[in-house]
Amino acid sequence: MALIVQKYGGTSVASVERIQAVAEKIKTAVNAGNQLVVSVSAMSGETNRMTELAQEIQAAPSLREMDMLLATGEQVTIALLSMALHQLDCDAISYLGSQVRIVTDSEHGKARIKSIDDYRIRQSLEAGKVVIVAGFQGVDEDGHITTLGRGGSDTTAVALAAALQADECQIYTDVDGVYTTDPRIEPNARKMKSVSYEEMLEMASLGSKVLQIRSVEFASKYKVPLRVLSSLIEHPVGTLITSEENIMEQAIISGIAHNKDEAKLSLIGVPDKPGIAFKILKNISDANIEVDMIVQSVSAREGLTNFAFTVHRTDFINAQNILQKVCDELAAKGVQTDDKVVKVSLVGIGMRSHAGIASQMFEVLHNEGINIQMISTSEIKISVVIDEKYLELAVRSLHSAFDLDKE
Ligand code: ADP
Ligand code: ASP
Ligand code: MG
Repeated sequence: MALIVQKYGGTSVASVERIQAVAEKIKTAVNAGNQLVVSVSAMSGETNRMTELAQEIQAAPSLREMDMLLATGEQVTIALLSMALHQLDCDAISYLGSQVRIVTDSEHGKARIKSIDDYRIRQSLEAGKVVIVAGFQGVDEDGHITTLGRGGSDTTAVALAAALQADECQIYTDVDGVYTTDPRIEPNARKMKSVSYEEMLEMASLGSKVLQIRSVEFASKYKVPLRVLSSLIEHPVGTLITSEENIMEQAIISGIAHNKDEAKLSLIGVPDKPGIAFKILKNISDANIEVDMIVQSVSAREGLTNFAFTVHRTDFINAQNILQKVCDELAAKGVQTDDKVVKVSLVGIGMRSHAGIASQMFEVLHNEGINIQMISTSEIKISVVIDEKYLELAVRSLHSAFDLDKE
């Protein structure tokens, strides 16, 4: 008998009919002799709808109350799914994060899971029930409801799988696996049979929203066999996310990720002396703004330099105001900003042993007339920041230039 953790995302539980179809799938897995723990998201669109409601009242509502509000989306779906299972004569019980005791820190809106008590889940499993757990939520030490950040139900599922030492964690969504790039942007994207934790972590952190980053971190740390597959088709195969040594053939480039949430800020003509980067970024990080790419140009004429970085678009206005103050303090020449940029990244473990990938990437972009504004590289990825109007063109031309559409 295997213990399987399944997660169904928003589109998979978007209507009563979909919830009933999910219940059928769960019942089939139970009839095959498995124990099932199932984590679900809110119905598709609900979390956004509630966020808009809150913003009609207050532009920046209390993060604690936002968590109180948003956590309700998942309470609806766990109860409905449990009822749908009862209707199929399949015993099931639903729990909120706080009832299981998924304990998190107190960072409302982006809480991290600290521990999961498996007692209640194990008891219910032993009583022959399917256990349904609300995704995306937990409770802090003081009993306040917390949420794990957008897409957080993936992390709930993987953390449950790790805590229960499940045989597999299956993430059911609206695509049948992890593709070479977002199939919504490139219809020729190809499904990967397997991908390493490390590559998936890069893809997720570079913007591939098919899995939340923290879910991949958990899977990698606790070696949870993770599968992404479609809830909308009959016999999904999906993609296995596993350790590098389990992957037979390693492509040079596995995939292309993109991130539309970027905004770029530059401080122009800063006196080039020790402590500049520190002074600029200290003010930004004190405001709890995360910085992504950073570029400082080689000292230009007159001992002046330019310093540019990117932040999440939601932090753009805030970062702009801070940078203007820093500009005055440092007597820099000015601030330039652009919130119409995107980041496009090539990811692949095979890059470690292949030179020339970067120049090939830059050549492709040059041939399409796409100007590169920033570059950053690591052992297994190359990222560029470009104008957002070139997103589709860049992704598609790179996808075909690196033969990702071919087996
Ligand atoms: P869910 O609601 O099930 O959590 P998400 O919308 O969060 O679903 O994630 C699935 C979506 O991720 C897909 O519809 C697809 O557009 C997007 N996506 C981005 N990059 C990829 C990729 N490399 N492979 C597959 N899907 C991707
Ligand atoms: N409902 C939450 C969201 O929309 C969590 C999730 O779907 O994973 O982000
Ligand atoms: Mg998701």
